[in-house]
Amino acid sequence: MSKNQELFARASKHIPGGVNSPVRAFGSVGGTPPFIERAEGAHVWDADGKKYIDYVGSWGPAILGHAHPAVVKAVQDAAVNGLSFGAPTKGEVELAELISQRLPSMEKVRLVSSGTEATMSAIRLARGYTGRNKIIKFEGCYHGHADSLLVKAGSGLLTFGNPTSAGVPEDFIRHTLVLDFNNLEAVQAAFAEHGSDIACIIVEPIAGNMNLIKPAPGFLEGLREICTAHDAVLIFDEVMTGFRAGPQGVQGLSGITPDLTTLAKVIGGGMPVGAFGGRADIMDCIAPLGNVYQAGTLSGNPVAVAAGLVTLKLLDNALFYDTLAAQTQKLALGLADLAKAQGLTFSTDYVGGMLGLYFSEQVPTTYAEVAASNIDQFKQFFHAMLDEGVYWAPSAFEASFTSGAHTDEVIQTTLEAAERAFKRLKN
Ligand SMILES: *Cc1c(COP(=O)(O)O)cnc(C)c1O
Repeated sequence: MSKNQELFARASKHIPGGVNSPVRAFGSVGGTPPFIERAEGAHVWDADGKKYIDYVGSWGPAILGHAHPAVVKAVQDAAVNGLSFGAPTKGEVELAELISQRLPSMEKVRLVSSGTEATMSAIRLARGYTGRNKIIKFEGCYHGHADSLLVKAGSGLLTFGNPTSAGVPEDFIRHTLVLDFNNLEAVQAAFAEHGSDIACIIVEPIAGNMNLIKPAPGFLEGLREICTAHDAVLIFDEVMTGFRAGPQGVQGLSGITPDLTTLAKVIGGGMPVGAFGGRADIMDCIAPLGNVYQAGTLSGNPVAVAAGLVTLKLLDNALFYDTLAAQTQKLALGLADLAKAQGLTFSTDYVGGMLGLYFSEQVPTTYAEVAASNIDQFKQFFHAMLDEGVYWAPSAFEASFTSGAHTDEVIQTTLEAAERAFKRLKN
């Protein structure tokens, strides 16, 4: 038995499924997940001492590469001064200022400890601000695991969705409308029927939780127009894309201004930090100024905030994002060429430090199209790459992530491994 297998067996005795977040269990690809012992730059090492090039990057946060010395030092320095006070600190002010400067739509910012908290709070705020109940989300977009968001489309247009988790009462999701990503007509129809009771639309403006799916031209513009026309709140969930798709997230790339934005992942630099923010008149509805309650014992934790602050400071560099995007592009185009040379049905897409790979002819535009890709071939590719020492996201429904540590040499090594992996795939 390998050390990974031993640890997984031990883990499974006292941790449900052996993991503290389900995708880590490799349920959709099979096999034993490597237990990671350490990470540096673009690499992680498992309990058996095997080294991998990492394209998970802690699911997004590791944009500077793992264990960046400046981030590690900031954490160490902050820890010496105390781990948590439950009282305001200067670091929180600096982080809120930095976020507002980079994302001007976030006039006011509240820090939390995870993306789930950020989206859950933003939705409560949108409901409190508008005095309405219903929300719109899109099939395949993930916004964390709050009850009202664990919903998938029901059968038929405009029917209310079904819970994607046991333990979520139908009553809780009665107010959640689930529509197809990139289908503006469905949004118009939903507003025509329920407009006076729709508090908000929440959307991943570039989706990264059903593999990578970009908005069709006009989709985000349309959402903006519809929300404005109906006095509904437009929430961009940029937990994944914030400071990763580009220096100002998708709002910077698209020029579309949401009313509220949620962030996490990169803004904590690997530590638990989330945030939601936006228009000051909406944000001022939160306690203690307003009557929408929201709080957190460890919110704005000084050690976590220190990691986020230094991360964002290091990202304040136009060249960083140009290089990141160029490396991601090199990888995406290289993979597509290699797969084509093997006669495989395969496509890729990319933006900033996000990469999508699909065993389908065309880049998908909806969840259903990702689901219709050759998932079985993805699983084979995933395991062939893992053998080769390359760690992709262990699901055909996840995007992969690059970092500032993914140098030419790292990309080249990845492409050489991919060429061997593609050759091994059963056509
Ligand atoms: C990861 C993610 C979340 C949830 O964040 P957690 O920190 O895991 O709670 C929410 N929205 C999006 C878009 C995400 O990618």
